[in-house]
Amino acid sequence: MALIVQKYGGTSVGSLDRIRNVANRIKRLRDEGNQVVAVVSAMGGVTDKLIAMANDLTSEPAERELDVLLSTGEQQSIALVVMALHELGVDAVSVTGRQAGIVTTGSHTRGKIEAIDPSLMKQYISEGKVVICAGFQGIREDGMIHTLGRGGSDLSAIAVAAAIKADTCQILTDVDGVYTCDPRVVKDARKMPEVSYDEMLEMASSGTKVMQSRSVEFAKKYGVIFEVRSSLNDNPGTIVTEEHDNMESVVIRGVSIERSQARLTITGIPDEPGMSASILTALADAEINIDMIISNIAHDGLARHSVTMHSNDLGRAQAALKPILAKLGDSAGVETEAGIAKLSCVGIGMRSHSGVAAKMFEALGEAGINIGIITTSEIKIAVTVDETDIEDAARVVHAAFDLDKAPTAQ
Ligand code: ADP
Ligand code: ASP
Ligand code: MG
Repeated sequence: MALIVQKYGGTSVGSLDRIRNVANRIKRLRDEGNQVVAVVSAMGGVTDKLIAMANDLTSEPAERELDVLLSTGEQQSIALVVMALHELGVDAVSVTGRQAGIVTTGSHTRGKIEAIDPSLMKQYISEGKVVICAGFQGIREDGMIHTLGRGGSDLSAIAVAAAIKADTCQILTDVDGVYTCDPRVVKDARKMPEVSYDEMLEMASSGTKVMQSRSVEFAKKYGVIFEVRSSLNDNPGTIVTEEHDNMESVVIRGVSIERSQARLTITGIPDEPGMSASILTALADAEINIDMIISNIAHDGLARHSVTMHSNDLGRAQAALKPILAKLGDSAGVETEAGIAKLSCVGIGMRSHSGVAAKMFEALGEAGINIGIITTSEIKIAVTVDETDIEDAARVVHAAFDLDKAPTAQ
């Protein structure tokens, strides 16, 4: 008998038939003698619809109210999953974030999990009940309803698995596992048997939507090994775990893409200490998530800084920089470019192999794809390209590194 935490994403509970499928899968695990806690997302599209309604009513919905509104999506689906389980004769009970003891911290709509008091869930488990827990939500220390950012049910599931010391944590979704690239974009992408936390984290934070990046960070911190697999079949998925010697030996593990990016360049900045800090502080104070940062060497005493961000944040970023630009004087200006996307190659093998960037840029060059900004980390090389080129870019880079083929032992 094992204690299993599962997470079912939006598509996996996207219709009543899918909810019946989830109930059947959970019943099967129960019949095999396991204890099950399932964390579920809102039915697919519900969170987006709630956000659209809020935006129709007001251009600036209060974030406290957004949390109250968005958390209702998961509350619907937990009740429906429990009803489907009851229909199959399974003793099951739903818990909201508050009832699950999920205590959060941080600004509204961007909650972080601080602690979990799983006593009620444990009591239900000991009574032989299946527990269906609302993903994406918790209660802030001041008692406010709080959501965990888009895709946040992944984080709920990993944190619950850590809190109740589950034997197994499975993230069930609409793909069979983590692929070398989004299989909807690169048809010959290959499902990987295993990925290290560090690679999964870099992939998730550079656009690989299958896992929310903060959930991977949490899993690494608390040593939660998890498996990404399909809610629609029984194929083995991808295990995400600490890096080890028997992992497939590759230089590049995967390719990530992130659309809807924008560049903002501040020109004519006096080349003096403290300038970069004041620009980045203004953006940070406006809670704008900056991704790439490039600073050009000053020419004639004037420098340029470019940053990238989600294109939705461009307007707010420009507004946040206005007071600084006014102080910088006539030399300063702002240029913006929307309609760009980011392509990243990720792999721990890069630590010990050179030539990865050259190979990536050569593949893009041969395909006639122009590169904008370039950044690197120890295990990642990322470039911006025109958004219209991103799918071709992903395919040519994926092919250049032979990612469709299983690596041969080295
Ligand atoms: P859920 O609703 O279950 O949370 P998501 O839509 O958040 O599911 O994530 C699953 C999607 O992630 C897949 O449908 C797939 O298109 C996308 N995806 C992007 N990159 C990858 C990748 N490298 N491997 C697997 N899926 C990926
Ligand atoms: N329902 C939330 C979202 O759509 C959380 C999740 O699905 O993980 O982002
Ligand atoms: Mg998701």
